Amino acid sequence: MKRNCPYCTSYDPRVLLVNRWTAPTKGSFHDGYDVVECGACGGVYADNIPDPEVINEYYSAQSKKAQGWKANDYADPDGHIFLHRATKKWVDENAEVKGKILEIGCFTGHLMSMWSGEREIYGYDPSRFGREVAKFKYGFDTDVANRFRDTRFYKNGVKFGFVILSHVVEHIADIEAFFEDIRPALDDTGILYIEVPDITNWFPAADDAHYHTNEREPMLQLGAEHINYFSPSSLGRMMARLGFECVKCESRFDTLAVLSSVWKLRAKSDDAKHIAKYVDNCAAVFERHNAKMRAISGPVYVWGAGGHTQRMMQWSEMGKLDIVAFVESNADYHGGTLAGRPIIGPAEIGGPYPIIVSSLMYQDSIVAQIKSMGLKNQVITLYGR
Ligand SMILES: [Zn+2]
Repeated sequence: MKRNCPYCTSYDPRVLLVNRWTAPTKGSFHDGYDVVECGACGGVYADNIPDPEVINEYYSAQSKKAQGWKANDYADPDGHIFLHRATKKWVDENAEVKGKILEIGCFTGHLMSMWSGEREIYGYDPSRFGREVAKFKYGFDTDVANRFRDTRFYKNGVKFGFVILSHVVEHIADIEAFFEDIRPALDDTGILYIEVPDITNWFPAADDAHYHTNEREPMLQLGAEHINYFSPSSLGRMMARLGFECVKCESRFDTLAVLSSVWKLRAKSDDAKHIAKYVDNCAAVFERHNAKMRAISGPVYVWGAGGHTQRMMQWSEMGKLDIVAFVESNADYHGGTLAGRPIIGPAEIGGPYPIIVSSLMYQDSIVAQIKSMGLKNQVITLYGR
């Protein structure tokens, strides 16, 4: 399956690595993909990945497996325990956790258990085995689900103050649909914790047992399940286009090279209030014009058929006047009408009626022209004095 860039959505892949391992005929997920660089943004991701059905079938099969363990004798591996402790410490130091906690992809609930007793905790994961362990070891009642919309939390409209995505986003093929589901789960001041492998710090540490398997086994970072390869730059680009603002993003490598990051929903612009204020202020100016026009009784000329008059007819009470004709120096208008009244040239002024000068920019020159034409009509200006 061809994929648009998960970070910027362009499709301009340049192959960096044809990543094809030797797969057995049975029991294997797939035999590889192309590691590509996006020509538009420089991010790196897996293209030509298996079709969604193949991926879904794989995760659904995985999720049913107990990997040889029974829930009551399962122990979280040391690598996970060390990593999760470091994550909790980082979050405590860098984020303000409020409200209910939701972990997406919580597996056995070990990471969520770091907040046990501090907050209300919820989680979901495709793994049935993970759910059994979560219940047995930590007393968490988690949902078995692939997508947030398949959880009871989604159906009940529960909102969360802290949503955890730890080692999940690097597996996700359809980034848009995934985050579209998560957004409604965050309450207004909610934050999202994302932890993903950090490509800027990957290192092979084959013989050092202190480090996580992903760093110890060569090329495991480019294994079957990982299809997005994040740097701070590509993660930031992706989250920005998804409507999130970075609170903090940091490289960590306690036992595994990861990006620890906290995101909040980007606040909407409140630009409409600025427009409303401008319209209100303009209405006050039109109201001053109205006061002048209300003092006029009987027929009038309006000098000007351009934008100023067109807006006056829209916003002010000018349309209520008994307008004999609009006077306009620009001959392009002559012979036409405005609001059913003729538009005439200055030379055609014949009646003794007052002339309203409907212009700010040309007010003085129109007044001077009326004077130079020797017209005796009363001249009413809208601006000044
Ligand atoms: Zn891109």
